Amino acid sequence: MSIDASLRERAARVVPGGMYGHLNAALHGPGYPQFFVGGQGCRQLDADGREYIDLMCSWGPVVLGHRHPAVEAAVTAQLAAGDCLNGPGPVYVELAELMVETVPQADWVMFSKNGTDATTQALMVARAATGRTKVLMAHGSYHGADPWCTPSPSGTTPSERADLIEYTYNDLASAEEAAARAEGDVAAIIVTPFKHDSFEDQELAAPEFARGLRALADRIGAALVIDDVRGGWRLHLGGSWETLGVRPDLYAFSKAMANGHPIAAVTGVDALRGPAQTIYSTGSFWFNAAPMAAAKATIETLRDIDGVALIERAGTRLREGLAAQAASHGFVVNQTGPVQIPWLSFEGDTTLDKGMFWASACLREGVYLHPWHNWFLSAAHTDADIDRALLGTDAAFARLREEFGAD
Ligand code: PMP
Repeated sequence: MSIDASLRERAARVVPGGMYGHLNAALHGPGYPQFFVGGQGCRQLDADGREYIDLMCSWGPVVLGHRHPAVEAAVTAQLAAGDCLNGPGPVYVELAELMVETVPQADWVMFSKNGTDATTQALMVARAATGRTKVLMAHGSYHGADPWCTPSPSGTTPSERADLIEYTYNDLASAEEAAARAEGDVAAIIVTPFKHDSFEDQELAAPEFARGLRALADRIGAALVIDDVRGGWRLHLGGSWETLGVRPDLYAFSKAMANGHPIAAVTGVDALRGPAQTIYSTGSFWFNAAPMAAAKATIETLRDIDGVALIERAGTRLREGLAAQAASHGFVVNQTGPVQIPWLSFEGDTTLDKGMFWASACLREGVYLHPWHNWFLSAAHTDADIDRALLGTDAAFARLREEFGAD
């Protein structure tokens, strides 16, 4: 029995279902390992010692590569000095200053731990500011795992979602209609910087949609909240909609902000500083200093090496390589989303049979990507690493052709 299988068996005895949530490998397809033991740069090692070129980056957090020396040195030094103390360390102020300097929208920042903390906290600030109840969100958008936003209703009550009114991503008219339905009671419009729902091709935000949401929020006196938990720090260091010239009232960040260390943040505009002071929002580990030191080192490094450009270069090389391979093997594929956070689907593959087969074949070739969730690239992916990944994807296309024939 493999080490992975034996760990799964033991886990199943002591954890409900063995594993819960999005990291449950049973959801990812045949052959996906559940347990990992190491990571270095853009490579990860599973519990049975198989090494992969990592095109998931731990589902987003790892943006500079695993065990980046500057980040790990900052964490080690902070751990040696003290991490979980009676109050935050000076690094709390240093990181807040760095974020206010880096994100043009930000006049202030509040820290927490996970993306869900940040989206929930942003909505609390919006409600405190407006005294209103409803939130407009795009149908199918993922904003976290709390009862108000979890995609699965099990364990929640309908009332916990009752204040959400859905619109359609990139359809401004639907957002206007959703606002009209709320009859003056909209506290916030929440939106992701691009449409990245699982199981679906991604969609970039149309500039007129982004500008239109900003104008709608202003007109009805609601806060515009960008959930940049997934997109943040890969598309633009100043917040992802800097690329469109649209600034929200509140940004929610997490995932990539500390290269894998646990921290999240909400940044806000001056007008919301007062309301932000009134909400009660805290956690036992929210003020730990080591993840703050990691975030400071990550943001400084991304800035100093122009990390976004490096990730974009890797993503472009991957996209072009995959396009050429798919065509040469006779497949019609859709490559969607920004190149830094890409996804590939097979045309007409509604059952995901081809996508699952191809992803599993990539895995066997030492390339870790995903059949129904977008992938993430990092600044550690060199041209040689992408070329190594492309060797694996090419072999996987060949196997797919043997199994399914060309399109
Ligand atoms: N918002 C978005 C857009 C996300 O992608 C995620 C995580 N996948 C979250 C919120 C929730 O973040 P977390 O899992 O850290 O709570």
